[in-house]
Amino acid sequence: MVAHDEATGRFGRPVLTRFPPEPNGFPHIGHAKSICLNFGIATEFGGKVNLRFDDTNPSTEDIKYVEAIKRDIQWLGFQWDNELYASDYFEKLYDFAVLLVEKGKAYVDSETEEEIRRHRGTVNSTGTASKYRDRSVEENLDLLGRMKAGEFPDGAHVLRAKIDLGHPNMIMRDPLLIRIRHAHHYRRGDAWCIYPLYDYAHGLSDAIEGVTHSLCTLEFKDNRDIYDWLVREVGFEHPPEQTEFARLNLDYTVVSKRKLLRLVNEGHVSGWDDPRMPTLAGIRRRGVTPEAIRNFCESIGVARKDGRIELATYEHAVRDDLNMRVPRVLCVARPLKVVLTNYPADQVEELEASYYPHDVPKTGSRLVPFSRELYIDRDDFMEDPPKKFFRLAPGREVRLRYGYLITCQEVCKDAAGHVVELHCTYDPATRGGNAPDGRKVQGTIHWVSARHALDVELRMYDRLFTIPDPEAVPEGQEFTSVLHPNSLIVVPGAKLEPSVAQDPIGSRYQFERTGYFISDVVDAKPGALVFNRTVTLRDSWEKEKAKGS
Ligand code: ATP
Ligand code: MG
Repeated sequence: MVAHDEATGRFGRPVLTRFPPEPNGFPHIGHAKSICLNFGIATEFGGKVNLRFDDTNPSTEDIKYVEAIKRDIQWLGFQWDNELYASDYFEKLYDFAVLLVEKGKAYVDSETEEEIRRHRGTVNSTGTASKYRDRSVEENLDLLGRMKAGEFPDGAHVLRAKIDLGHPNMIMRDPLLIRIRHAHHYRRGDAWCIYPLYDYAHGLSDAIEGVTHSLCTLEFKDNRDIYDWLVREVGFEHPPEQTEFARLNLDYTVVSKRKLLRLVNEGHVSGWDDPRMPTLAGIRRRGVTPEAIRNFCESIGVARKDGRIELATYEHAVRDDLNMRVPRVLCVARPLKVVLTNYPADQVEELEASYYPHDVPKTGSRLVPFSRELYIDRDDFMEDPPKKFFRLAPGREVRLRYGYLITCQEVCKDAAGHVVELHCTYDPATRGGNAPDGRKVQGTIHWVSARHALDVELRMYDRLFTIPDPEAVPEGQEFTSVLHPNSLIVVPGAKLEPSVAQDPIGSRYQFERTGYFISDVVDAKPGALVFNRTVTLRDSWEKEKAKGS
């Protein structure tokens, strides 16, 4: 569509798109799709992008959201050409209102908003005219001027377009354009007391800026008529054109700012940047990279029909990206002590361990200390294992990653019968993990040297909701009733290999066999490490489903 407009010179000016957030919440993954689309099209056609804050509603907007939006767009890797505010257009929009009144295309109505709604009719019946519809131009101008001057209380009058009360599109039945609000605006202070409605401000702001392609989500389809009517009546030549696309809906996720705000305000999450939130701030803190988000937005494409994206598609994009960039290190989530009874007590070996597997085009390695006392993961030991369990069990031999083959000789338990320690022997001839006699050992497990390990807290995140479409809860039920009770599991006392100590807070890793992690920029401190699980290594959910079926 844009290529065609360019080829025909339709607008007579370079492509100009805009991203028009209302600063009333943090940007989320749905906004990322819109950002990628608007910036992507501008880049593709050598055009420009305006970041325009649609800040025409004084009650919910705040400068902190403006800052979050700017930071997150830049984090995604985009830079706008102009930073603009619809609230800077209030004077212009007022002048347009005067123009429309003078043309006989708008009038001041003194019915209440409730009366106006009632008189608008239904899809099956035409509306009825307000008794104020035929006020003279002079009277309308006088009232409009006094509305602006602050002479009237909220709701005393509104400015309406004079279009058609029988219009098949309900939005075109003399829509409200401007209303009185004695409220404090985060940028305009108390200087202004008449506020444009969305439909009045949006298209005209696009037109003022010379936008060519105004891309918005499908729910604005019916608003296109008023958009076109306004830019035409105000007299813009080659006005922008609105085109709708399907919003991003992601399974197990809500992408409504109002609902996200409730999650924050009601304390269901720790804040806008809680790593379970679909906000870009949360996603970033969770360890996802901007490249992964951009690839994801690209991969799902742009459609004209609403749909839902499976979480697996999103997680695939996240894994694909991390797989190629992050080093692998060893971390034991739930430690179980292993004593190698035949290993010298004061000996420490430095074993070479590569950071990347062979199929990743990056290189590098570090030394990991190996000593008599190690930790392995509790899940890698079973006292009474089933047949297909290839990890450690009494009398069984297993390979320690980058290390030796060890055999479990004795299981030590406390008074309550819980396993507290394993006594194993190692085979000194198997350094590097292979037996010179060629005997087969199936299992390879991860470990850390007890003496050298760093204590860390792991935060295991899961989906925030229990049903794919949390917005579609039955009537009378709250979306918060389908919150996942175990969306965060804190695992204290995990043991991490010491090489990580030198890395900056915010570094990403794959903890081998466990998942992708990032050290938490908010809560991690030197000496008190905290890691967020970005994503598991495989789609464990799919596996579970397959098992169940
Ligand atoms: P809410 O849905 O909570 O009311 P909003 O979508 O109105 O929020 P805006 O700040 O107005 O939030 O959105 C800025 C831009 O991002 C708009 O152009 C909007 O169409 C787009 N956008 C918002 N949500 C999505 C989504 N889920 N998918 C794609 N684009 C979106
Ligand atoms: Mg909006």
